[in-house]
Amino acid sequence: MTARVVKVKRHEKLGWLERLYVPMIVKGLWVTSRYFFKNLGGYLRGNPQTFVVQWPEEQVDYPDAFRGMPVLVQLDNGQPRCVACGLCEFACPTDCISIVPGELEGAGIERYPEAFDIDMSRCMFCGLCEEACPEEAIVMSRNVEVAAFDRATMVFDKDALMVPEPLLKRRLEFLRGEYDREHAPVAKARD
Ligand code: SF4
Ligand code: SF4
Repeated sequence: MTARVVKVKRHEKLGWLERLYVPMIVKGLWVTSRYFFKNLGGYLRGNPQTFVVQWPEEQVDYPDAFRGMPVLVQLDNGQPRCVACGLCEFACPTDCISIVPGELEGAGIERYPEAFDIDMSRCMFCGLCEEACPEEAIVMSRNVEVAAFDRATMVFDKDALMVPEPLLKRRLEFLRGEYDREHAPVAKARD
């Protein structure tokens, strides 16, 4: 199922109708009632697809702007694109990223994350780490199915966070559009 994107017009100044307050309440109630009766009609016709997603059998195809859990971009050589600069760690408002940088001698990239952990029990999927990253190395995925029985298992390490670059293509192209970039930052070899 494809999610529908609705662009909301946000007026900076209220018109006289909005300032009267009551017409806007009636308008809001009308929207709520419209969906209520649409869903009720679907239920009475025996067509629950009009109002419910049969998850997990049926998955929603979220829009490209959707922010699920942050993941690390994995290059073709199996390594993360990350250069352990620490900007995402610094930008994270919940302090849930923890990076241990390592040094590589004689490689195209001198730094790499020896360890890269995100505590998903604290992550609020805000996307600030993605915005801060100069390498397109951490991006927001479509995965929101993050659950565990205890907090310790909510700490995702580097291996658990890595997702092959081709699987993140839609999000990466969306980001390049957002930041007006034609290409990804050049990832140097690290073999
Ligand atoms: S999405 Fe936000 S809270 Fe989660 S790791 Fe990134 S910056 Fe931190
Ligand atoms: S994910 Fe990006 S911002 Fe974070 S340490 Fe790696 S290269 Fe730097």
